[in-house]
Amino acid sequence: MKCRKCGERALVTLRRHNASFCKEHFNEFFRRQVEKGIKDYKMFDWSDKIMVCISGGKDSLVLWYLLNDMGFDTTGMYINLGIGEYSQKSLEKVNNFAEKHNLKSIIVNLDELGHPIPLLESKVKRQVCAICGTAKRYYFNKTAYEGKFDVVATGHNLDDETARLLGNVLKWDPAYLSKMDPNLPEDGEFIKRKVKPLVRLTELEVGAFAFMNGIDYIKDECPKAVGATSMLYKNALNNLESEMPGTKHYFYNEFFRSAADKFKMEEVNTEMHTCAVCGLESFNEVCSFCRMLEKLK
Ligand code: SF4
Ligand SMILES: [Zn+2]
Ligand SMILES: [Zn+2]
Repeated sequence: MKCRKCGERALVTLRRHNASFCKEHFNEFFRRQVEKGIKDYKMFDWSDKIMVCISGGKDSLVLWYLLNDMGFDTTGMYINLGIGEYSQKSLEKVNNFAEKHNLKSIIVNLDELGHPIPLLESKVKRQVCAICGTAKRYYFNKTAYEGKFDVVATGHNLDDETARLLGNVLKWDPAYLSKMDPNLPEDGEFIKRKVKPLVRLTELEVGAFAFMNGIDYIKDECPKAVGATSMLYKNALNNLESEMPGTKHYFYNEFFRSAADKFKMEEVNTEMHTCAVCGLESFNEVCSFCRMLEKLK
């Protein structure tokens, strides 16, 4: 296989683009896709202070690496969830990466705060990923608010977003379908704009970029991810993609071109409160995270 651009030996073949690339031209392709995502969805510009949510996995580290390389003002934000060896290893990857590239980072440690995920899981009668999602959302929002960030960026890729879209379509849930936009506007003073700059790239492409650019990330999945329904949707979409290359892209882009507007929710003027426990903005008297912590008492 030869590179479509220069005719040198190709290292990656992208079936959905019917093209192969050498390292240099794959990097160029990858970067252009990120730039296009940022521009098309008007995510942010060079004046914005960006908080990048980091897990230690390939997607978030690739995103951090690229945004920094493009000259954006980034700070990585990592939450140590306290999930045994998985959390220890991922924290190590994040620290090594930040040091190697001389990047700013903020670390929140749930163990030190007294509510690691396994403890919450044993006390709160909800699915562990729902508990973890509430905790992560809370600390991401809190850190972005207190750090006066303009935007919160996450490393969700095309596979993540098509799997989520498929799940929401199967339920035809307008509330969730209205939140698919890769640039969600801020909500009040507390919740900052949320963006997903890798949304034009597949998991395989992000993995290839990480490998070619020597980005060392945690390869293990979170042990709690076993049996997650999102994996079921990803596998179904991978089967379709291998028979019909380009399916994921088409499914995602056509949703925004033809259907997303139909699910736009009416602006609801919800009265905001100050959480009686943590003092941050909340939809209820006590925010959902603090209600969860009350179960530990
Ligand atoms: S798989 Fe579930 S528990 Fe593990 S990090 Fe993701 S949301 Fe949290
Ligand atoms: Zn080339
Ligand atoms: Zn609270």
